[in-house]
Amino acid sequence: MDNQQLINGELVSGEGTLISVYNPANGEEITAIPEATTAQIEQAINAAEQAFVEWSRTTPKERSELLLKLANAILEQKEKLTRLECEDTGKPYQAMLDDEIPAIVDTFRFFAGACRCMTGSASAEYIEGYTSMIRRDPIGVVASITPWNYPLMMLAWKLAPALAAGNTVVVKPSEITPLTTLALSKTIQSIFPPGVVNILFGTGANVGAPLTTSDNVRMVSLTGSIATGQAIAASSASNMKRLHMELGGKAPVIIFDDSNVDEAAIGVRDFGFYNAGQDCTAACRVYVQRSIYNQFVEKLTHAVSEIQVGSPDDEGVTMGPVVSETHLTKIEAFVERAKALEHVTITTGGYRLNKPGFYYAPTVIVGAKQDDEIVQNEVFGPVVSVTIFEDEQQALEYANDSKYGLASSVWTQDPGRAARLASRLQYGCTWINTHMLLTTEMPHGGMKLSGYGKDMSMFGLEDYTVIRHVMTKH
Ligand code: NAD
Repeated sequence: MDNQQLINGELVSGEGTLISVYNPANGEEITAIPEATTAQIEQAINAAEQAFVEWSRTTPKERSELLLKLANAILEQKEKLTRLECEDTGKPYQAMLDDEIPAIVDTFRFFAGACRCMTGSASAEYIEGYTSMIRRDPIGVVASITPWNYPLMMLAWKLAPALAAGNTVVVKPSEITPLTTLALSKTIQSIFPPGVVNILFGTGANVGAPLTTSDNVRMVSLTGSIATGQAIAASSASNMKRLHMELGGKAPVIIFDDSNVDEAAIGVRDFGFYNAGQDCTAACRVYVQRSIYNQFVEKLTHAVSEIQVGSPDDEGVTMGPVVSETHLTKIEAFVERAKALEHVTITTGGYRLNKPGFYYAPTVIVGAKQDDEIVQNEVFGPVVSVTIFEDEQQALEYANDSKYGLASSVWTQDPGRAARLASRLQYGCTWINTHMLLTTEMPHGGMKLSGYGKDMSMFGLEDYTVIRHVMTKH
């Protein structure tokens, strides 16, 4: 197994503590990998700093060519990477191959093109005798910290815009699912000059924290939990580094009585349980108008009870295990606390599956009230809550009554209502009559505790640049 880290163009083994990596589909250890030491973290940051001098002066065309090479190399290894990602995360093999790999390749291709066509305001003489122009320059060394739910895709979201903009990067994947990122070390080594991309392995405490607090790192890009985002934000106060935070979510799904109830039920199944619900945009906080509530609950329960749970290669599998024993226990505790409420009913699921690995049954919790923990807090697992609402005003109030602000959806046949709600929902994204679909051209990112900064799109590229004003006296 290729578990080497990449520091200054060299493939190296960590010299720190061994960390075990598990297969969630059977609970067995896959491998144990040594963490990077403090000295290795420093070497990686220094290498990125030195490489920045040359890399930041390359032309967009030169950077674009290397990003396209990486896209092609990923495509060439797609079966191997899919196999590894599935072993590490438990995802269904076909879903990874058909959904994620194309999106990952497309991310590198998009930013390869995007950096060649940045736009901005025109240079002009805003003071007579002086010409002003705007530049968008790279920032410096970027520390990119990724989570465990979409390891390879998050690597693409972080690496592609940062490199396209001319920054150098030190990446740290989640210690729970590092295998595909480490497996790419060799490919990245063969494509990029030494130090432009460095890959470290280790926990948040031992590697993430020293990396993100370093004065020589000019920007931190994190996809992860709110707690981690807050810790990084607090530690960045002293050196004012740029932050890009994609944090948790609890997406409201508002289903009106004029919607297509069948489509809405299938939509909540498909977008609430994709990746075992371990998705920051998962359609997990469902609000249904009273007159269709019973009908919707029946259809959703039926649809969810048909989800095929299994390991990556099982025939017809649509949902895998959750990522770890710790996470499974957390999900289980969430549901047990909800079960204890008298007004709540579990219509399907509500238990862990009695087999090796970290499996939780797809679960629908109905009758939940707005203040319930299950409505207010992110479970990040295969659990959906359903709450009744009376009218548009109440639906809007419920949906916006959240500390999160990442994603939302409205299900209605009334275009006026759809536009009205979309304009008033406090979320980085609102889908109408669908949910969760992303496209590389469009920005993804949150408000409130879901963070700030955009992944993907031209906005994502701009986030990895600094705007500068140059004024010339004639
Ligand atoms: P996490 O915060 O525990 O870990 C994320 C990464 O941060 C890991 O690599 C971890 O090692 C590192 N880390 C932890 N503590 C750190 C510290 N003090 N300093 C630096 N790095 C540190 O999150 P997770 O459990 O891996 O991921 C799940 C979370 O990610 C969920 O809350 C989910 O909503 C969120 N998420 C958000 C998006 C989005 O686009 N907004 C996408 C995917 C996941």
